[in-house]
Amino acid sequence: MSGTPKGKTNGADGATLHERARLSFDLDVDICVVGAGLAGLTVALEAARLGASVAVLEGRHVGWNASGHQLGTVMPGYGLPLSQLIERIGFEDARELWSLSKEGAEFVRANASEEKMPGIALSEGALEVSNVDVGNQLISRLQMLSEDFETEVEGWQIDRVRSELRTDHYFHGVYYPKAFQIDGRKYVHGLAMLARRAGARIFEDTPVVSIDASGIRKRIVTPSARLRASHIVLAGNIHLGAPLRRLSETLLPVWRYAALTAPLGARLDDVIAFKGSVADTDGIDHFRIVDGDRLMWASPETTWAARPQRFGRAIERRIRTVFPKLGPVEIAETWGGAVGETVHGMPQIGQLRRGLWVASGFGRQG
Ligand SMILES: Cc1cc2nc3c(=O)[nH]c(=O)nc-3n(C[C@H](O)[C@H](O)[C@H](O)COP(=O)(O)OP(=O)(O)OC[C@H]3O[C@@H](n4cnc5c(N)ncnc54)[C@H](O)[C@@H]3O)c2cc1C
Repeated sequence: MSGTPKGKTNGADGATLHERARLSFDLDVDICVVGAGLAGLTVALEAARLGASVAVLEGRHVGWNASGHQLGTVMPGYGLPLSQLIERIGFEDARELWSLSKEGAEFVRANASEEKMPGIALSEGALEVSNVDVGNQLISRLQMLSEDFETEVEGWQIDRVRSELRTDHYFHGVYYPKAFQIDGRKYVHGLAMLARRAGARIFEDTPVVSIDASGIRKRIVTPSARLRASHIVLAGNIHLGAPLRRLSETLLPVWRYAALTAPLGARLDDVIAFKGSVADTDGIDHFRIVDGDRLMWASPETTWAARPQRFGRAIERRIRTVFPKLGPVEIAETWGGAVGETVHGMPQIGQLRRGLWVASGFGRQG
């Protein structure tokens, strides 16, 4: 994981820096959120907007893990493909979950507006491409998405895909015009800023070491202070650890790595005309153009942690395999983060016991 400098955290506009505050005094709140990633901060923002007193306890700093290192593609859906979701829980429940995910995307869009998060740079459209020629499956999928799941989509034939992406690696595509991209690394800090403005208090360098969730007022212990809260929300993803080890052990940690190329100039336009983000249906590649002529590309995944720099060459090779016409590319930056995969492929959201909540396991679709 690449991190922000110790002691300071970038704001959404990169200009507002604030000192990290560690919790060093005892506190009583309505809601204690463990973890300041996308999940924890989203809960904190919404709860504070509803008038609850909220404390977020973050062991490292805002966006330390996956949430501060993601690519920023926002679209409906979950890690589990829609067809499998329907198979598992039935059509009606799948429709309800899909519609919740659409609301989630709109929630991000509303927060990531220019006036709330200056410089967040929202761009439209995402394209899902298949690695194999399966035109028939595409047509039935399109019908289902647009008619049954009320999602705006366009089917792109191979020619159209290949006029936007000059490679013979990809075949048909599903275009989501309402999906969008944000600067993912800025969004999490923007979320923290909005949550603070709504009244939530965020304490960094404050790991939660244990909880006692048995009473009406729950107890939370950190190395330097104790909290009491009516509700605890566990949003620590794979790093939750001691507060509820059994919960974090239900997640398979998967490290995902990404890279940003040096500027590629006009040759990038010659091979990639599409301006939104592209992901393949097998979940191997996920990329988009940033800063006009650079490629941001997430590719390899491992189940062990390694320095992101080790994966620069692998991503470079992958880019050259998919877009040989691009020629050599120089990798300027690499980073990674760990996502938590559940056995069922869906996030864990809900109440474990009275007043003890979980929001975790978002996998590669946060
Ligand atoms: C390279 C990459 C690209 C991605 N691209 C996308 C994308 O384009 N679109 C998309 O939707 N998703 C994407 N994802 C997935 C997305 O980033 C994750 O699903 C999401 O960020 C998970 O958020 P989270 O809040 O659950 O977890 P995290 O980001 O892991 O946050 C959990 C936080 O809790 C803290 N914590 C844990 N335990 C404790 C404790 N005991 N006490 C205090 N604090 C604790 C941790 O320090 C951490 O900061 C990507 C992920 C990666 C790695």
